Amino acid sequence: MAIIIDGKTIAGKKREEAASRTAALKKKGVTPCLAVVLAGEDPASVSYVTAKEKALLEAGMESRDIRLPAAVSEEELLALVNSLNRDVSVHGILVQLPLPAHIREDRVITAIDPAKDVDGFHPVSVGNLILGRPGFIPCTPNGVLALLEEMRIPTAGAHAVVVGRSNIVGRPLANLLVRKEINATVTVCHTGSGDLGLYTRQADILIAAAGKPGLITADMVKEGAAVIDVGVNRVPDTSAKKGFRLKGDADFDTVAEKASYITPVPGGVGPMTIAMLLLNVVSAAENSV
Ligand code: NAP
Repeated sequence: MAIIIDGKTIAGKKREEAASRTAALKKKGVTPCLAVVLAGEDPASVSYVTAKEKALLEAGMESRDIRLPAAVSEEELLALVNSLNRDVSVHGILVQLPLPAHIREDRVITAIDPAKDVDGFHPVSVGNLILGRPGFIPCTPNGVLALLEEMRIPTAGAHAVVVGRSNIVGRPLANLLVRKEINATVTVCHTGSGDLGLYTRQADILIAAAGKPGLITADMVKEGAAVIDVGVNRVPDTSAKKGFRLKGDADFDTVAEKASYITPVPGGVGPMTIAMLLLNVVSAAENSV
């Protein structure tokens, strides 16, 4: 039976680190501040943004909460980003995605000053990540690495298989894992990979980030592999108050029988994302002094 990785506790440690670095900055007269921009009222986005704002305040940081109507124009949003870029009291800018369909996300992300790009989605941040240079690393992939590190799961020489190649999870994660200091051998799978199990069965570290509930079954996992489940999927559940429950990309009960480590959903990777965001905001503020 696998060791269940307690993402909540590990995230708690990272949040404490963010809070203590914040306290040190405050002594120098700087309060780390993240501007959180939300356009529209998508319920999932509202709940993510609310959770981020709460975590910032708990760590002693400032959250500048900017809510815009879904009909906001692209030009208005770009003007707002530019004004936040110029505002020296704002250290990080987070524009919650997805944006309403009439707004080009690429344009908005590229408008953010890379020094304030705490989500790590700006092309400059992406380039730095690929080149192995310092810069902001997207929070979820960075959270996955922190879990591996905290659990002392060896990465050097390990074969890591990442299922998913999105710009926010799979792709940056693969680029991180292949860095010299991490030294994994990386395979990236996607919908064009054909027999997914052929690849996943070779993984010492299997990272599922496909957004498909229960995609990874026990027969697709090597005995003793570490399984990191990034997927957060709502599946109907009439016994649950909200009518759904959260399920990961791995079939938890059967995969846990075979793996050496596994992250639960919820309570695994999810809490790490916000914790790593807090650390990115503190870093942005530290870089500004
Ligand atoms: P996404 O943009 O939809 O990307 C999914 C990726 O998985 C794509 O590259 C897709 O391949 C691949 N894929 C989908 N079905 C597949 C299959 N059957 N076999 C192989 N590859 C498959 O999703 P995302 O934004 O990366 O998110 C992935 C999951 O992580 C979601 O459940 C999301 O909710 C969750 N997530 C969690 C956190 C967290 O904090 N825990 C943060 C972000 C995301 P193609 O490229 O070929 O389409």
